[in-house]
Amino acid sequence: MGVAAVSDRLVQTLVPLEAKSPFELRVDLGRDVPESDVRSALASGDMGFLHSFTTGSAVDGPGIRVVAWTTGCMWRCLYCHNPDTWTLTNGIPVTLTRAVEALRKYRHGLKIMSGGFTLSGGEPLMQDRFAVKLLAAAREMGIHTALDTNGYLGERLSDQELETVSLFLLDIKGWDPERHRRLTGMDISPVLAFARRLADRRKAVWVRFVLVPGLTDNFDDIAHIADFVAGLGVVERVDVLPFHQMGRFKWMELGLSYELESTQPPSAELVARVCSRFQQAGLAAY
Ligand code: SF4
Repeated sequence: MGVAAVSDRLVQTLVPLEAKSPFELRVDLGRDVPESDVRSALASGDMGFLHSFTTGSAVDGPGIRVVAWTTGCMWRCLYCHNPDTWTLTNGIPVTLTRAVEALRKYRHGLKIMSGGFTLSGGEPLMQDRFAVKLLAAAREMGIHTALDTNGYLGERLSDQELETVSLFLLDIKGWDPERHRRLTGMDISPVLAFARRLADRRKAVWVRFVLVPGLTDNFDDIAHIADFVAGLGVVERVDVLPFHQMGRFKWMELGLSYELESTQPPSAELVARVCSRFQQAGLAAY
């Protein structure tokens, strides 16, 4: 059975592509796809793996957004809200055609609401060919596109492919290399290099920074991030996202060791103080 046939069969018989929110736990939905089909899907981008499509988001880019949540992520952020998206084959295998059709349904509404399409995850650039094709299809429909990425695999996109994205939602999770590695398991350098490349290409960026008491609230790090981000000259806004425990149940259900069991959300005062450091650097921060 070919990739498209496997995908269509699974999509029709298992879980709907649309979800109420990305906080639905989804596992093993692509486990029946043969390894060779997974490899050819990643190489061609003609099939991808999606946790879900959600609608009505007001926080993943300008206006009201339809969001496709991809699966697959190499990072292991201690505060990850959606660890079920780490594994590629936890997602629903979806042909590019089916994903484009799903998006096409919303195109008129999105234009009326000055919204758009956001590709998030997981890390969407784990499926870079699928990401580029889906974003390009959205652009061809006249839909504003946003890519929510940790930036680590930004080199996978050519300069021309960067142009399929209207807005980058770039997660900057830390500054000090050791603290960043402890938080995410990964090196920060490629993230900063990608941010500089977006600045060189004059691409619009919104930065996202997750504020976790005791983990990402080091003020030296925050000051460095603020000054770096301001120096890029392309960052339209910074979203300071308060840590929450909505993803905790996923860590439990997946049998993962969750270090942030007793971590509380940041106080309103701390959020305001961090926002104000970004604002001091001349940035719009919320
Ligand atoms: S990069 Fe995103 S999806 Fe990946 S582990 Fe971190 S928070 Fe989770």
